[in-house]
Amino acid sequence: MESRDQSNRQLGRASCYSNAAKRQSYSPSVIVIGGGFAGIAAARALHDASFQVVLLESRDRIGGRVYTDYSFGFPVDMGASWLHGVCKENPLAPIIGRLGLPLYRTSGDNSVLYDHDLESYALFDTDGKQVPQDLVTNVGLAFENILSETDKVRQEHKEDMSILRALDIVFERRPDLRLEGLSYKVLQWYLCRMEGWFAADADTISLRCWDQEELLPGGHGLMVRGYRPVINTLSKGLDICLNHRVTKIDRRHSGVEVTVEDGRTFVADAAVIAVPLGVLKAKSIKFEPKLPDWKEDAIADLGVGIENKIAFHFEKVFWPNVEFLGVVASSSYECSYFLNLHKATGHPVLVYMPAGQLARDIEKMSDEAAASFAFMQLKKILPDASEPIQYLVSHWGTDVNSLGSYSYDLVGKPHNLYERLRVPVDNLFFAGEATSVDYPGSVHGAYSTGLMAAEDCRMRVLERYGEMDLFNPALGEEDSVPLLISRM
Ligand SMILES: Cc1cc2nc3c(=O)[nH]c(=O)nc-3n(C[C@H](O)[C@H](O)[C@H](O)COP(=O)(O)OP(=O)(O)OC[C@H]3O[C@@H](n4cnc5c(N)ncnc54)[C@H](O)[C@@H]3O)c2cc1C
Repeated sequence: MESRDQSNRQLGRASCYSNAAKRQSYSPSVIVIGGGFAGIAAARALHDASFQVVLLESRDRIGGRVYTDYSFGFPVDMGASWLHGVCKENPLAPIIGRLGLPLYRTSGDNSVLYDHDLESYALFDTDGKQVPQDLVTNVGLAFENILSETDKVRQEHKEDMSILRALDIVFERRPDLRLEGLSYKVLQWYLCRMEGWFAADADTISLRCWDQEELLPGGHGLMVRGYRPVINTLSKGLDICLNHRVTKIDRRHSGVEVTVEDGRTFVADAAVIAVPLGVLKAKSIKFEPKLPDWKEDAIADLGVGIENKIAFHFEKVFWPNVEFLGVVASSSYECSYFLNLHKATGHPVLVYMPAGQLARDIEKMSDEAAASFAFMQLKKILPDASEPIQYLVSHWGTDVNSLGSYSYDLVGKPHNLYERLRVPVDNLFFAGEATSVDYPGSVHGAYSTGLMAAEDCRMRVLERYGEMDLFNPALGEEDSVPLLISRM
């Protein structure tokens, strides 16, 4: 990518995979910032549309919040692991289908509450006694009923409130819906699962917005071999600079100048900004001139939640053959759950998944302390549990490259913040899960925003050059190959 403005320095080239030889000097140029699904999708689409593209990524790897770890000797996803919406309408379906990657169906349901079917849980009280399965199912149905009552509360109140407050109102009005004893604890567990979906506590989840998210049909499927092959395929042949942390973005009439940590600058006609919302909130990237107020407000007003994973590798399986093992308790904070990866992958792995305040508290611990805290939860329900041979701990909340797991609606804030985050500012185009109006907090949502930003960028840059017919559309059509999903 050559500088259009001779006063700017040429692109720095340290630790880049470069395909510079193929470049055509007349092509418009774009800098993509962030190598998660959104950034890679944007870079791929613009590259395929004959733009000169360089992608700057702060980590020493691509994938962002999609991270498949292989240190157990097989793939374990420490970030995203489900494809939400196993259907041909899913924008990731063509590539996953083409790669022949198997999926494991955990639920045929499309609700935001259940990415696992009710019958696939084994729940235990803290004294190790298993909760009878009919109680698990009945409380699950009662929870749905209670949530549908919160809709009436929503209709009646002009002001937004938290989902927790709405539940309190429902119980005040309808004492018959209150649950006690073990049923109450199971209800807390369902609340804990709901908090996991939003990566946030029930007292911060918006009643007005919580169920406004659009879900694709086809239910939820785990990526059995992990997400890594998908990101690797998408990134093939792209010019990616790892260990390039962007600290400043100058937008000028003639283009953009992007500065990285060591002071080097990159110039291009436009930039696609695909860093996480947490990074934008932290203001670790300086915008010159500053972003307009409506954009800064959207960044401030949208929530970022935390969900983490602690994966345990055991010598052999000693737990029941269900998809989820859960600990029920008197508050959702004390409840927890383990995803049984053995069911989907055949490997003896359990993944503990805390969210919200619990995840935040655990992230303050050392990895060793976090793993032993999680293992203690397992011991409560399976006292004979053997010690793990290996473990992995994620830190999505404190990692400076993410500063949160995924976005969600805060109480009292409008739902159109995702759109406001997406809207371009001059020649800066925004992508990432938090800019997805339809599918925030998901991999396919992030991917679609990358394609969208690429198309917006292509139109905008080419309009300026008056060469609209020269380049291919950024949103290419793909042949569809059916997805391979199963369940045991
Ligand atoms: C624990 C967990 C579980 C999840 N489970 C699922 C799931 O099962 N299914 C699902 O669909 N979604 C899931 N998600 C959400 C999903 O992972 C994200 O929505 C999606 O991966 C976000 O992609 P992105 O491209 O928007 O952001 P990211 O993947 O975060 O990419 C942003 C990139 O920007 C880079 N960056 C940051 N700062 C800078 C800088 N200053 N300069 C240059 N680069 C920078 C980062 O290193 C990163 O690579 C999960 C997320 C987490 C954390």
